[in-house]
Amino acid sequence: MSLQDYKGVFVFVQQVDNVITPVSFELIGKGKELANDLDTEVTAVVLGSKIDAMGKELARHGADRVIMVDDPALEVYTTEPYVHAFTEIINKYKPEVVLFGATAIGRDMAPRVSARVHTGLTADCTKLEINPEDKGLMMTRPAFGGNIMATILCPDHRPQMSTVRPGVMQKLPTNDAAECEVIKEEVAGLSDHMNVEVMEIVKTVAEKMDIQDAKILVSGGRGMASPENFKLLEDLADALGGTISSSRACVDAGWVEKDRQVGQTGKTVRPNLYIACGISGAIQHLAGMEESDVIIAINKDETAPIFNVADFGVVGDVFKILPLFTEAVKKE
Ligand code: FAD
Repeated sequence: MSLQDYKGVFVFVQQVDNVITPVSFELIGKGKELANDLDTEVTAVVLGSKIDAMGKELARHGADRVIMVDDPALEVYTTEPYVHAFTEIINKYKPEVVLFGATAIGRDMAPRVSARVHTGLTADCTKLEINPEDKGLMMTRPAFGGNIMATILCPDHRPQMSTVRPGVMQKLPTNDAAECEVIKEEVAGLSDHMNVEVMEIVKTVAEKMDIQDAKILVSGGRGMASPENFKLLEDLADALGGTISSSRACVDAGWVEKDRQVGQTGKTVRPNLYIACGISGAIQHLAGMEESDVIIAINKDETAPIFNVADFGVVGDVFKILPLFTEAVKKE
């Protein structure tokens, strides 16, 4: 088979408890853009059990076509049945581009699938573009500790595969009237691939809003000086209806839980408002928040790099400014 025989952009749709994970919609949005540049279609591939209703949902979010594998062996994610089913779909349809979310499940599946179909994988991409000259996929990701952005090509193999960080790409506006073709595929013997048994699923109860879902983030850095001072951030976040996040320095110091970390090795966020308090603005931090709609920075050092990406900057002491800020918001 030649490279030209591979057609279409495929997105792996992640679902947990039959609820589609937001990154899948983001990938359909990006996939559609790539598909337009390649003059082809974006196909959403969803694996699970009793997933009929997802066809309509994926069409609403812009999928041109949906392929479903509905099998009891796929009810709960386990590596082997999912990898086998997805590999079979790729081998049958031969897409030229395959996208996964860089989630725990996407990171588990994508390298195995790429090895089985004998192609490469670019992990943790933050940018995807079609090269207008040769129509190849240019996959960009941070490298060398985030100090350079590396663009990786896959010139000799298909499909071109990548995992993409959640929160980086944008969903399309939903269209309730949208319909699309839904193809139901069967993959024989999936239960034979069950080499683990799920004994129990213990769900963590999130006390705070996920930082990737929050519209307003009040984020603290080392300048907050101690975990107790994060109370100042919580007060402002509560007044604004948002939640708190932080730089890695505070996570490493044990002040804040790891799931609150913004940045290259944390989460990528794109809230309407990001308030950076006592954060210097290291490149690895900026990688996770610079796409926020509006950025306010409070820092006592006027040369701090965070001011280069801020829409509004306050040069001053967080311990003086934050209580005044919260008080003013409460008065509104
Ligand atoms: P600092 O750089 O120490 O900055 C503290 C800031 O607070 C300073 O600008 C200071 O002027 C200001 N300040 C101090 N006191 C006050 C006050 N009273 N009022 C106002 N301002 C004050 N970092 C991340 O955040 N996320 C990541 O995902 C991440 N990944 C990384 C991956 C790699 C491979 C590497 C090498 C590093 C990574 N880092 C990451 C770390 C990053 O390089 C920085 O070290 C980190 O972001 C610094 O955190 P900070 O801004 O809170 O602290």
